[in-house]
Amino acid sequence: MPFLVARFKAYKKLISMGVSAQAPAPGPVAELNSKVLLPRFFSEFAEFYKNVNRLKLQRCITSTVESIIHAADWQAASKRDQMRLLDLQGPGASAAVCAIPNNPATSRTDLEWVLSNRDRYGMVLDPTCTHCGACGHAFTCPEEQSTHFHSCIKYRKTTVNDRHDGIGKHTCTIGRHAGLHTTWEKRPDSGSRMRPDGGFHLSDGTLLTDTTCRHPVTNTAMRIVNFKPGKVLDDACKGKITDYKTFAERAGASFLPLAISVYGRFHKDYLIFLKKLSWEAINNGVLSDDKERIAFYRQSVAEISVLRAKYNARILIRGLQDSRSRRWELAHRD
Ligand SMILES: [Zn+2]
Repeated sequence: MPFLVARFKAYKKLISMGVSAQAPAPGPVAELNSKVLLPRFFSEFAEFYKNVNRLKLQRCITSTVESIIHAADWQAASKRDQMRLLDLQGPGASAAVCAIPNNPATSRTDLEWVLSNRDRYGMVLDPTCTHCGACGHAFTCPEEQSTHFHSCIKYRKTTVNDRHDGIGKHTCTIGRHAGLHTTWEKRPDSGSRMRPDGGFHLSDGTLLTDTTCRHPVTNTAMRIVNFKPGKVLDDACKGKITDYKTFAERAGASFLPLAISVYGRFHKDYLIFLKKLSWEAINNGVLSDDKERIAFYRQSVAEISVLRAKYNARILIRGLQDSRSRRWELAHRD
């Protein structure tokens, strides 16, 4: 059925693209609506419209069939899945999938690869995991596992913070590879930060940065942003600017928030900043030509994306391990 619909849609699309130069010949034609006469077979179509070959028509029909099937799948998907898929269409979100590992520090182990990808595609991590071992929250559905581990209050100071630190520190490392002096400020022993965590001494002045990694599929995020995952990162950046802009101005520096989502979508300013680092590498004589510069930029994006996936997996591994323990249950028994 989708194929038949697609064929008619494809005919219409080709006609609207201006292929109806030649009038249809008299013969077996199907009437879709009163204005457009449609042939029933490929061969007839090719005869009627000489400037459309079979291959072009076939490609047009295939893409139309795919879009119809995709639309049906989209309607059937849950709100959570829709939000996740929208986030995965963002800039840089597929960098980790295309990356070829060459650096042990940013490549994933087999288990990390499996878990981070199960998370990416919204699959159940472990069907036997029924509650969070850290806070005791009972999952209403198995799909809730990964979302919960990413946002559980008990992991905010441990594995979730490790992901933030890992991404921020690695951005500083990329800055050093570009020949810059960079600083990374450790988190305070208690309470929240007063100062931004990263510092880059660029050729045009000091830039303070603050890293943030946001989850777009939490209930709060979905209620606020109305299916615009990019807005989750925009809001995160606005919050960071409110927190740190005045401090940076007082320190005589500029400020830039570096925001990335759990599924790998980069905020556009983050990518612009990484591009700027690649230009700094040219200025500092680390790289020699534009080809190397583009490779450096792509490598930076891929490394950060893979590192994010690696730390995601560590959050999930810790969550699954804790859920197997009876510690929580014993501590809360009446
Ligand atoms: Zn929990």
